[in-house]
Amino acid sequence: MSPVGTDHDARTVAAAAAAAPDWTSLAAAARTCVACPELAATRQHVVVGDVPPTGRPRLVLVGEAPGATEDETGRPFVGKSGALLDLLLGEAGLDRAEAAVLNVVKCRPPGNRTPKAPEVARCSGWLRRQLDLLDAPVVVALGLSSAKWFLGPRTVLAAVRGRPHEVDGRSVWATYHPSAAIRFGPNGAPRAGLLADLTAVAATLGGAP
Ligand code: SF4
Repeated sequence: MSPVGTDHDARTVAAAAAAAPDWTSLAAAARTCVACPELAATRQHVVVGDVPPTGRPRLVLVGEAPGATEDETGRPFVGKSGALLDLLLGEAGLDRAEAAVLNVVKCRPPGNRTPKAPEVARCSGWLRRQLDLLDAPVVVALGLSSAKWFLGPRTVLAAVRGRPHEVDGRSVWATYHPSAAIRFGPNGAPRAGLLADLTAVAATLGGAP
């Protein structure tokens, strides 16, 4: 695929993503993307996402955007938030190796600021195609930005978490981002809520694949 150029907008990114026949092609195209000039100029890596070796995850975890460690390594959820996510997945009876791990926005916003609406709009093409290619029946949206991407801009996390929502034929669960669980501490509501939601997701997935 040809690189995505600086003058390309969300529709051009979506077209490039839709043309990718498989994960490898999509990842290669996304790594050349410079549709968001500020992010492309400051990032170290485009964090495309992790997929299981089989390419067929039982669930997809979707966060907001890469942080500093993710930007350095090129992998999603590998910093403190990633360590807590792995821990809570294990406590819930889930294995990260059976999940795909993605972000709504693939490049780190400077200073870990919240991604801007045009950045989310541009990067949505990559995420939509990733979800289609992975074809997992269950998605867990981690944090409000991700929850809004799936459930709409007026989403209030407390009002939607704790149960699945049917979106484009998928079962979407919205819950706290691990960074909120860290911020509010080990006895805070976000950590307990995140664990409860992951445990509920594990129950719907049943036993071993
Ligand atoms: S955030 Fe997404 S759309 Fe923007 S430059 Fe990075 S990969 Fe491209």
